[in-house]
Amino acid sequence: MTNVFLGIGGNLGDRRESMRSAVAALRQIIDDVRVSSLYESAAWGVTDQPAFLNAVVRGRTTMKPLELLDATQAIENNLGRVREQHWGPRLIDIDILLYGLAVIDEPRLQIPHPYLTQRGFVLRPLADLAAGLTLPDGSLVGELLTTVDQSDLKRIEGPSWTG
Ligand code: ATP
Ligand code: CA
Ligand code: CA
Repeated sequence: MTNVFLGIGGNLGDRRESMRSAVAALRQIIDDVRVSSLYESAAWGVTDQPAFLNAVVRGRTTMKPLELLDATQAIENNLGRVREQHWGPRLIDIDILLYGLAVIDEPRLQIPHPYLTQRGFVLRPLADLAAGLTLPDGSLVGELLTTVDQSDLKRIEGPSWTG
Protein backbone atom coordinates (compact mmCIF):
# COMPACT_ATOMS: atom_id res chain seq x y z
CA MET A 1 0.00 0.00 0.00
CA THR A 2 1.23 3.45 -0.89
CA ASN A 3 0.20 6.70 0.80
CA VAL A 4 -1.21 9.16 -1.69
CA PHE A 5 -2.34 12.78 -1.50
CA LEU A 6 -4.81 14.12 -4.05
CA GLY A 7 -5.78 17.74 -4.61
CA ILE A 8 -9.38 18.37 -5.57
CA GLY A 9 -10.99 21.58 -6.74
CA GLY A 10 -13.77 23.06 -8.81
CA ASN A 11 -15.33 26.40 -9.67
CA LEU A 12 -18.47 25.70 -11.71
CA GLY A 13 -22.02 24.73 -10.78
CA ASP A 14 -22.75 23.53 -7.25
CA ARG A 15 -19.12 23.48 -6.18
CA ARG A 16 -19.68 21.93 -2.77
CA GLU A 17 -21.82 19.15 -4.23
CA SER A 18 -19.15 18.36 -6.85
CA MET A 19 -16.47 18.28 -4.15
CA ARG A 20 -18.56 15.93 -1.99
CA SER A 21 -19.27 13.67 -4.95
CA ALA A 22 -15.57 13.56 -5.77
CA VAL A 23 -14.68 12.50 -2.22
CA ALA A 24 -17.44 9.86 -2.26
CA ALA A 25 -16.06 8.48 -5.54
CA LEU A 26 -12.49 8.54 -4.22
CA ARG A 27 -13.61 6.51 -1.20
CA GLN A 28 -14.58 3.78 -3.68
CA ILE A 29 -11.09 3.53 -5.14
CA ILE A 30 -8.71 4.33 -2.28
CA ASP A 31 -8.55 3.09 1.31
CA ASP A 32 -8.39 4.93 4.64
CA VAL A 33 -9.51 8.24 3.16
CA ARG A 34 -9.00 11.38 5.22
CA VAL A 35 -10.09 14.81 4.08
CA SER A 36 -8.74 18.29 4.82
CA SER A 37 -10.79 21.33 5.70
CA LEU A 38 -12.58 23.02 2.79
CA TYR A 39 -11.06 26.18 1.33
CA GLU A 40 -12.11 28.84 -1.11
CA SER A 41 -9.52 30.59 -3.22
CA ALA A 42 -9.31 33.11 -6.02
CA ALA A 43 -8.43 31.46 -9.34
CA TRP A 44 -4.71 30.89 -9.95
CA GLY A 45 -2.98 31.34 -13.31
CA VAL A 46 -6.05 32.25 -15.37
CA THR A 47 -7.59 34.69 -12.90
CA ASP A 48 -10.66 35.85 -14.86
CA GLN A 49 -13.03 33.09 -13.63
CA PRO A 50 -15.07 32.20 -10.52
CA ALA A 51 -13.39 31.34 -7.21
CA PHE A 52 -12.49 27.70 -6.54
CA LEU A 53 -13.25 25.39 -3.69
CA ASN A 54 -10.23 23.28 -2.80
CA ALA A 55 -9.34 20.43 -0.49
CA VAL A 56 -6.81 17.62 -0.17
CA VAL A 57 -7.61 13.94 0.24
CA ARG A 58 -5.22 11.45 1.77
CA GLY A 59 -5.51 7.71 1.30
CA ARG A 60 -3.75 4.43 0.66
CA THR A 61 -3.77 2.40 -2.51
CA THR A 62 -2.28 -0.64 -4.22
CA MET A 63 -2.83 0.96 -7.64
CA LYS A 64 0.21 1.91 -9.70
CA PRO A 65 0.56 5.66 -10.41
CA LEU A 66 -0.83 5.51 -13.96
CA GLU A 67 -3.71 3.31 -12.84
CA LEU A 68 -4.51 5.89 -10.19
CA LEU A 69 -4.39 8.64 -12.83
CA ASP A 70 -6.79 6.65 -15.06
CA ALA A 71 -9.12 6.12 -12.11
CA THR A 72 -9.13 9.77 -11.03
CA GLN A 73 -9.65 10.96 -14.62
CA ALA A 74 -12.58 8.54 -14.93
CA ILE A 75 -14.08 10.14 -11.80
CA GLU A 76 -13.61 13.62 -13.31
CA ASN A 77 -15.38 12.47 -16.47
CA ASN A 78 -18.19 10.72 -14.57
CA LEU A 79 -18.81 13.89 -12.58
CA GLY A 80 -19.31 15.75 -15.83
CA ARG A 81 -15.97 17.38 -16.44
CA VAL A 82 -15.36 18.25 -20.05
CA ARG A 83 -11.87 18.91 -21.41
CA GLU A 84 -11.49 22.62 -21.57
CA GLN A 85 -9.00 25.41 -21.41
CA HIS A 86 -5.86 24.64 -19.43
CA TRP A 87 -6.22 26.26 -15.99
CA GLY A 88 -9.75 27.31 -17.02
CA PRO A 89 -13.04 26.81 -15.15
CA ARG A 90 -14.08 23.23 -14.37
CA LEU A 91 -16.63 21.24 -12.40
CA ILE A 92 -14.01 19.10 -10.75
CA ASP A 93 -10.25 18.66 -10.96
CA ILE A 94 -8.38 15.85 -9.25
CA ASP A 95 -4.57 16.13 -9.21
CA ILE A 96 -2.21 13.51 -7.83
CA LEU A 97 0.00 15.56 -5.55
CA LEU A 98 2.15 12.84 -4.02
CA TYR A 99 2.48 9.08 -4.44
CA GLY A 100 4.56 7.93 -1.49
CA LEU A 101 8.04 9.30 -2.05
CA ALA A 102 7.97 8.51 -5.77
CA VAL A 103 9.37 10.93 -8.33
CA ILE A 104 7.74 10.43 -11.73
CA ASP A 105 8.34 12.39 -14.92
CA GLU A 106 6.30 10.92 -17.75
CA PRO A 107 4.33 12.71 -20.46
CA ARG A 108 1.01 11.96 -18.76
CA LEU A 109 2.14 12.14 -15.18
CA GLN A 110 4.52 14.21 -13.11
CA ILE A 111 4.79 13.54 -9.39
CA PRO A 112 5.19 15.41 -7.10
CA HIS A 113 2.66 17.64 -8.84
CA PRO A 114 4.74 20.34 -10.60
CA TYR A 115 3.04 23.34 -8.93
CA LEU A 116 2.58 21.79 -5.50
CA THR A 117 5.17 23.98 -3.81
CA GLN A 118 3.83 27.23 -5.34
CA ARG A 119 0.15 26.94 -4.46
CA GLY A 120 -1.26 28.03 -1.14
CA PHE A 121 -4.58 26.37 -1.96
CA VAL A 122 -2.74 23.04 -2.14
CA LEU A 123 -0.14 23.44 0.60
CA ARG A 124 -2.61 24.72 3.21
CA PRO A 125 -5.01 21.74 3.06
CA LEU A 126 -2.03 19.40 2.66
CA ALA A 127 -0.58 20.84 5.86
CA ASP A 128 -3.94 20.21 7.61
CA LEU A 129 -3.41 16.51 7.00
CA ALA A 130 0.37 16.28 7.16
CA ALA A 131 2.28 19.42 8.21
CA GLY A 132 5.25 17.23 9.12
CA LEU A 133 5.33 15.49 5.76
CA THR A 134 8.61 15.52 3.87
CA LEU A 135 8.58 15.70 0.07
CA PRO A 136 10.92 13.54 -2.03
CA ASP A 137 13.38 16.47 -2.26
CA GLY A 138 13.54 16.72 1.54
CA SER A 139 11.45 19.89 1.91
CA LEU A 140 8.87 20.02 4.68
CA VAL A 141 5.22 20.82 3.91
CA GLY A 142 4.83 23.04 6.98
CA GLU A 143 7.88 25.09 5.96
CA LEU A 144 6.84 25.40 2.30
CA LEU A 145 3.51 26.75 3.50
CA THR A 146 5.26 29.76 5.03
CA THR A 147 6.74 30.68 1.62
CA VAL A 148 3.47 31.00 -0.37
CA ASP A 149 0.82 33.70 -0.53
CA GLN A 150 -2.32 32.72 1.37
CA SER A 151 -4.04 36.11 1.26
CA ASP A 152 -6.68 34.91 -1.23
CA LEU A 153 -7.34 31.69 0.67
CA LYS A 154 -10.27 31.26 3.05
CA ARG A 155 -10.96 28.23 5.22
CA ILE A 156 -14.72 27.91 4.95
CA GLU A 157 -15.40 24.63 6.76
CA GLY A 158 -13.67 22.04 8.93
CA PRO A 159 -12.87 18.46 7.87
CA SER A 160 -16.42 17.20 8.37
CA TRP A 161 -17.66 19.10 5.28
CA THR A 162 -18.04 15.82 3.36
CA GLY A 163 -20.87 14.93 5.72
P1 ATP B 1 -2.35 21.82 -13.19
O1 ATP B 1 -1.79 20.45 -13.42
O2 ATP B 1 -1.35 22.93 -13.37
O3 ATP B 1 -3.08 21.94 -11.88
P2 ATP B 1 -4.78 21.34 -14.59
O4 ATP B 1 -5.15 20.55 -13.38
O5 ATP B 1 -5.74 22.40 -15.04
O6 ATP B 1 -3.38 22.06 -14.38
P3 ATP B 1 -5.56 19.34 -16.41
O7 ATP B 1 -6.15 19.91 -17.65
O8 ATP B 1 -6.48 18.84 -15.34
O9 ATP B 1 -4.52 20.38 -15.81
O10 ATP B 1 -4.63 18.09 -16.76
C1 ATP B 1 -3.79 18.06 -17.89
C2 ATP B 1 -2.96 16.78 -17.84
O11 ATP B 1 -2.02 16.81 -16.78
C3 ATP B 1 -3.72 15.51 -17.55
O12 ATP B 1 -4.31 14.99 -18.71
C4 ATP B 1 -2.62 14.56 -17.01
O13 ATP B 1 -2.18 13.63 -17.98
C5 ATP B 1 -1.48 15.51 -16.70
N1 ATP B 1 -0.84 15.32 -15.39
C6 ATP B 1 0.50 15.36 -15.21
N2 ATP B 1 0.82 15.17 -13.92
C7 ATP B 1 -0.36 15.01 -13.24
C8 ATP B 1 -0.67 14.78 -11.88
N3 ATP B 1 0.29 14.70 -10.94
N4 ATP B 1 -1.99 14.66 -11.54
C9 ATP B 1 -2.96 14.77 -12.48
N5 ATP B 1 -2.72 14.98 -13.80
C10 ATP B 1 -1.43 15.11 -14.19
CA1 CA C 1 -5.04 21.19 -11.15
CA1 CA D 1 -5.71 18.30 -13.24
